[in-house]
Amino acid sequence: MTDANTALLETLASRLPAGTLLGPDDAGARHRADWTRVNACAPAAVARPRTTEEVAAILRACHEVGQPVVVQGGLTGLAGGATPRAGELALSLERLAGVESIDADAGTLQVRAGTPLAVAQAAAEAQGLQLALDLGSRGSCTIGGNIATNAGGNRVIRYGMMRELVLGLEAVLADGTVLSALNPMLKNNAGYDLKQLFIGTEGTLGVVTRAVLRLHAAPRERLTAFVAAPSFAALVALLRAARSEFGGELGSFEAMWANYYELAIAALKANPRPFDGRHPFYVLLEIEALEPVAATARLETFLARLLEAGTAADALVARSLEESARLWRVRESAGEIMMTLGIPMAYDVSLPMARMTAFLERLDAEVPAVLGDQPLYVFGHLGDGNLHLVTGLRSLGQVAALDQIVYGGLAGFGSVSAEHGIGQLKRHWLSASRSPAELATMRLLKSALDPRGILNPGRVL
Ligand code: ZN
Repeated sequence: MTDANTALLETLASRLPAGTLLGPDDAGARHRADWTRVNACAPAAVARPRTTEEVAAILRACHEVGQPVVVQGGLTGLAGGATPRAGELALSLERLAGVESIDADAGTLQVRAGTPLAVAQAAAEAQGLQLALDLGSRGSCTIGGNIATNAGGNRVIRYGMMRELVLGLEAVLADGTVLSALNPMLKNNAGYDLKQLFIGTEGTLGVVTRAVLRLHAAPRERLTAFVAAPSFAALVALLRAARSEFGGELGSFEAMWANYYELAIAALKANPRPFDGRHPFYVLLEIEALEPVAATARLETFLARLLEAGTAADALVARSLEESARLWRVRESAGEIMMTLGIPMAYDVSLPMARMTAFLERLDAEVPAVLGDQPLYVFGHLGDGNLHLVTGLRSLGQVAALDQIVYGGLAGFGSVSAEHGIGQLKRHWLSASRSPAELATMRLLKSALDPRGILNPGRVL
C-alpha cells in the first residue's frame, strides 16, 4: 500500500463510525471477487457505510486523493464489475439496507441500495403487491446492484427490465455530491431524467444509495407449463402463439436447449423426469392469471391445440406450487451447474429473432473446433431475444477463439451483453455492440461526472 493510501485510510477511520472500515485481512474472501471468481483480488480495504452521508464522506475523501473505488452489492455479478483490481478500496453497500416505506395506494416502495431483492419482493407481497423483477440470485443480489446493472431476469417479457421499475433514486457522485431524485411519480418530464445516468451504468457514474420502485398488482395465480418443442422453428411459433393467446398475462417464456435440459435433469437427479421422451427444445411458460379457474382451462386448451398442430411434442401444466418450483429449478440450476464445468464461461447475448437461426448455425459449425467434445449449453429468455451460452473451458487459452465466434457473430446487429453488463470481462467487446459516436458520448459523460476516474475504473469503458 502506498503512503497516500495509508493516509487516506487514517482520514476515513477518523471520520467514520468504528467498524465501518475493514482491513483486507479482516474483510474475508467475500469481497475479493464477484460470482465468477475470475481474477480474484483482495481490496486495499473495505468500507461498509450505513448511511448516504457516510457514502458521501468516503467518496469525497477518495476523490480528493484520486483513490480508485470498486462498488460492491451482493457480488452475484457475472462480468467482473465488482471484482477489485489491485489497490482499490471496496465500497460495500451491504449495511445500507432495509425497506424504508411502502405506499400501497400509489404502488411504490422506497428501499436502500443494499437490500437483497428477495427482501424487497417479500415486503411488496405482504401488501398484496409485487416487485416484478425476479432472477435466480434473488436471495443475494441487491437492489443497488439490480439498478446499476439494469437487471433483467425471468419476467422481462411482461414487466421490462429494472429500468422500467425505477421511478426515482438517490445517488452519490464521485466527488461526494448527493443527488437526491427520489421521485415517486410515474410521470415527471421536468427537465432531464437524471436517474437514467445511474441505471445500467454499472457504478461508473455514481453510487446508487436509495430508490423508489414501482410495484404491480400481484397475480391471483401463477400457472406454470412445461412444453417440449420438436424444432427451433416450432419454439418460435410457440412463443408467437403464447403472446397472441395470453398477451399481458404471459409472465415468462424460458427456453432450454436439450443439452442444457439434460445436464440440469442429471444435476438435480430429477425423478421422474418432466417428460418420458427426449426432445430438441423445452420451454417453461408462466401465465400470470387474473382469473385462475378460466385461465387453467384456457392454458390446457391452448396446449392441446399446439400438440395437435405438432408445434409442441409434449406438454404439462404444474398441478401444485411444489411441481411448479420443481420445473423452475430445472431452469434456475444453471448457476450451480456452471461451477461444475471446469473454468466457467457464460455468454449473455441478445439479437433479433430474425437473426437467431443463422447465429445458432454459426455456433454449431464453428464451436466444436474450439471446444472439441465439450458442449456449449444453451438456454435463455427467448421472449426477450436473450440467450445464455455456458460451457466449462479446459484452459483460458480457449477464451479468445470462443469470444471471436460468439461476439464476432453478433457484430453490427446484436448485443454482447443482454442483461449482465460489461464489467471488466467484456470491455474489449463493447465496440462490437456500440458505434464510435456512442462510445465517445459515454466517455464524455464519464469524464464530466467522474473527472478523476475513481469510480469503478476499468469497467465498461
Ligand atoms: Zn438471464
